[in-house]
Amino acid sequence: MQVLENEPMSKHTSFKVGGPARFFAKVENMADLKEALALAREKGLSYFILGNGTNLLVSDRGYEGVVIALSGAFSEIEDLGSGKFKAGAATPLGKFARHTLKQGYAGIHKLAGIPGTLGGAVYMNAGAYGQEIGNCCTQVTVLESDGNIRELPTSACGFGYRRSVFKDAGGIILSATFQLQDTTSLGKSNADLEAELEECMAKRKATQPLNKPNAGSTFKRLDTGAAAMPTQVAPGYYIEQAGLKGYRIGGAEVSTLHANFIVNADNATATDIKSLSEYVQSKVAEKFGITLQREIILLGEF
Ligand SMILES: Cc1cc2nc3c(=O)[nH]c(=O)nc-3n(C[C@H](O)[C@H](O)[C@H](O)COP(=O)(O)OP(=O)(O)OC[C@H]3O[C@@H](n4cnc5c(N)ncnc54)[C@H](O)[C@@H]3O)c2cc1C
Repeated sequence: MQVLENEPMSKHTSFKVGGPARFFAKVENMADLKEALALAREKGLSYFILGNGTNLLVSDRGYEGVVIALSGAFSEIEDLGSGKFKAGAATPLGKFARHTLKQGYAGIHKLAGIPGTLGGAVYMNAGAYGQEIGNCCTQVTVLESDGNIRELPTSACGFGYRRSVFKDAGGIILSATFQLQDTTSLGKSNADLEAELEECMAKRKATQPLNKPNAGSTFKRLDTGAAAMPTQVAPGYYIEQAGLKGYRIGGAEVSTLHANFIVNADNATATDIKSLSEYVQSKVAEKFGITLQREIILLGEF
């Protein structure tokens, strides 16, 4: 196991900000993972499981604990036959989505452009373009705080909009199993679904500020009922209507392309980004009486 001390988290987050992690453990297998957890226990520190850092804002002061990054054996994909796949938590979601589609199975192909890991996607119940990771996940293998490994069926995973039981109850996601649909049973060819995947990628390119460091949507979609129009649930609509597109605090900017993205436009600090998100919340609340809920996870003391 590789353990780094005072590792800058700016190297491990898509925002490219964040101070040092007291310890940064790169674990390749279960033995390493147990060693990293023991290190945290010995030092009396908390630990944090890092995926690809694409939904994460780490404080400029860093994290006084052990950041654990899964890799190696945690990135394996197993084809179990008949559309059943198991993949390790560190598997890049895009790689997994493309792999399953190549084998002729659909259900998560529209998630290919989400830049996180499978573990991060399960934790967040990541979703896009009408697909959500929880919809075709059948089981999650999790290392619980009592040291036991449990197989949780989907019914025990508490999947909802950007919600899962792992967010509330913790646990380290080791792998997840999926049941996907044979593309032919959908009356479509692989080429049709590959075209859908590429169409989603193109939409992202056209609508998201992918050329500047960011962490995806800053705020969650609003819950205004099933009958709501798409604009009524989109935080970006209200942020734009509040005149905040392009608004800056320090080096952080409300994207001029997509108002629900905050970008690191010019050497932003984590404090700039957090302050800007709070400013946006206050302005939207003032103008529309709406409370925006942050989707991005914060780590460390701000
Ligand atoms: C350009 C861009 C576009 C995006 N588009 C989308 C989108 O369309 N839809 C969407 O839902 N999200 C989107 N995101 C946000 C982000 O990519 C997802 O939330 C993703 O699932 C996070 O995965 P990650 O591996 O990067 O997790 P991280 O950011 O590293 O971590 C997020 C949380 O998951 C926890 N976690 C990670 N791995 C594990 C594990 N193995 N066990 C337990 N907990 C774990 C972490 O502790 C943390 O609390 C986007 C982000 C970017 C930068």
